[in-house]
Amino acid sequence: MMREDTVFGPIRSRRLGASLGINLLPRRGKLCNFDCIYCECGWNKDGRDDKTLPTALEVRRALEDKLAGLMLEGRHIDSITFSGDGEPTLHPDFPQIVADTLLLRDGFFPDAKVSVLTNATRLGDDAVVEALLKVDNPILKIDAASLEDIRRINRPAFPYDLETVKENIRRFDGRFILQTMFLRTEDGYDAAQPGRLAAWMDLVRALRPRSVQCYSLDRPAPQAGLVKIPVEELRKLVRPLVEEGFSVDCY
Ligand code: SF4
Repeated sequence: MMREDTVFGPIRSRRLGASLGINLLPRRGKLCNFDCIYCECGWNKDGRDDKTLPTALEVRRALEDKLAGLMLEGRHIDSITFSGDGEPTLHPDFPQIVADTLLLRDGFFPDAKVSVLTNATRLGDDAVVEALLKVDNPILKIDAASLEDIRRINRPAFPYDLETVKENIRRFDGRFILQTMFLRTEDGYDAAQPGRLAAWMDLVRALRPRSVQCYSLDRPAPQAGLVKIPVEELRKLVRPLVEEGFSVDCY
């Protein structure tokens, strides 16, 4: 599913309510430094015909127009979410765009929460971390606790270093939400395999996010042979963390 508009919605989201989306990526192509086997935007190679990023000014104007229109219609939004067709922190003006978005949110819908969904690969950049710490919900994705699994599930287009990502996340001092996709594949990957699950739980304990969002497959994926882990099963799998006091939501 590709979003062609820079500002889209509001859409009703499982976790965010009536959510306005901001797509900082090319309007007709996906742009990500991961190529997850479950990505609802498809493979990077299938969407590379358009590499034009919206400018910070274009994003600000599009968001202002949308928020003003919603206000005139008497509609309410619960959240403004940076998601879209790829990784939002790859945009070179991401920090400025976050600052503009927070100002507009304060002016139009001060109760709306600003969320950013990110694969946490750009946290080596101080300005990206500072911007993420300003939003209400920095949602950082780590799908597995081993490099081998991350290579298999997320297919990073660069030498991903899990230890560096974890070190960068420690700078949040727990002020973030961890997001993990749980799935199985017909060729033998199983996020619920006991050793794998235990390693992931240790990762949660080490990073101490303020909450955890666990996902099961919900949308068509580019890779064939993916198997959904039922949400009820997911809830059972994460019970030890809940019993330890972690806030864990399964979707
Ligand atoms: S990080 Fe997100 S946008 Fe990038 S490939 Fe994975 S699911 Fe798709």
